[in-house]
Formats: sequence, C-alpha cells, structure tokens
Amino acid sequence: MRLRHIAKAEPFIMESEYVEHDPSSCKGRWKERFDNKHPLHIEIGTGKGQFIMTLAALHPEINYIGIEKADSVLYKALLKQHEQKLPNLLMLWIYADELPNIFDKGEVARIYLNFSDPWPKDRHADRRLTSKKYLDMYRQILAPNGRIEFKTDNGKLFEYSLDSALFAGWRVSDVTRDLHHSEYAAGNIMTEYEARFSSEGNPICRAVFLP
Ligand code: SAM
Repeated sequence: MRLRHIAKAEPFIMESEYVEHDPSSCKGRWKERFDNKHPLHIEIGTGKGQFIMTLAALHPEINYIGIEKADSVLYKALLKQHEQKLPNLLMLWIYADELPNIFDKGEVARIYLNFSDPWPKDRHADRRLTSKKYLDMYRQILAPNGRIEFKTDNGKLFEYSLDSALFAGWRVSDVTRDLHHSEYAAGNIMTEYEARFSSEGNPICRAVFLP
C-alpha cells in the first residue's frame, strides 16, 4: 500500500499527548499508565483509527492501544482523537515487531488484526501479521484466557492464517467467510477497509484464535 507523505504528520505525532512516546518504559505497567485496572485490548495496524475509536467510545471499562507504523494514517487517527479525547485510548507509532519489548507476559487481554497487509508473495510470508513469527510474539504477551480477533477480505490470506494459527498451536473458533451475513454480524464494528471492501460487494472473513 502506497501512503501519501504528510509533512506535518511526524511533528504532530511527536507532540501528541495521546501517543505514548516511550512505550517500553510502560512494559508491565500499562495499568499505571492508564491509571486504572481495566483490561487492555490492542489493535495492530490501526490505520485511521475508526475501529478502535468506536470501540473505545463504547467501552470505557476497557483500555485500548492502537499500534500503527505509518505516520500518515496515524496522524489522521490522532486528529480525530484530539477532538474526541477518549481517556481510554492511546496510540503507539511502532512496528509490530516491538511488541515483546512493550508488553509483559499476559499483559494484553485481546489483540485485533483488521485487514492486515496480505503480502501475497511466498517469499514475504513471514511479514504477514498472522505468520508463525508474529503468532509466537502474540502468545508471549496475551493473557491465558485472551484472544486474537482477525478480519480480512482477502480469501488467500484468511486460509493461510487459519493454517498458520493451527500450525502454531492456536485453537481456531468463530470462523465465517461472510461475516456480515453470519451469526457474528450483530455488534460487528466496521473498520475503514471493511466499509470500503464490503460496499464493493466483497464478503468479509473473520476468525478468533485462542492460545
Ligand atoms: N486496520 C485498518 C482497517 O481495517 O481499516 C487499516 C488496514 S491497512 C490495510 C493495514 C495497516 O496496518 C496499515 O495502516 C499499515 O501501515 C499497518 N501495518 C502493516 N504492518 C504493520 C506492522 N508490522 N506494524 C504496525 N503497523 C502495520
């Protein structure tokens, strides 16, 4: 995905009070950082933030962290957060590879992966956020009763991810290849990509991975 460069994105992110600028210093202490004992849910590849901001507004009893590597889209999410000022939402400008340096064992109750980049070439398979490399990282930080919720419109990435999760020792549940016409449709929160792809008539796949 080619992203447009936005010159003011980086300085805005660096100044934002809704970004934790030293996330490794919060490892094992995220409850203190949020100043409450609420469970922590994270979204990896949060994009422009529609999904996590909707959830954070609906669930003040949960702490949310949106993780995004690209400054141009994180900037758009932050512009919205600076208006809404959701107290239970922080953003991190990092790559997913840093997760084990930022979250302690069992510190995260839920991980959302929404419309992760498919990396279609076989030689790039380990860059997929559902490859064994990343699933092993998620296992390190996820609580024993935690879960990963995964959505994509990409059928090949979906089948790969189910196989990858099973191979890495996860239990796979709540699988649907047409989320919006399934028993899991009620209460589904749409992401930006989900809204776009489903309006073009593409079915949305969804699964839950349990450690
Ligand atoms: N989740 C959003 C949605 O569903 O509308 C955005 C989906 S977009 C296809 C994927 C996002 O994940 C991009 O914003 C990209 O920059 C981010 N991303 C991809 N790989 C990442 C990584 N390794 N670490 C952090 N963010 C990543």
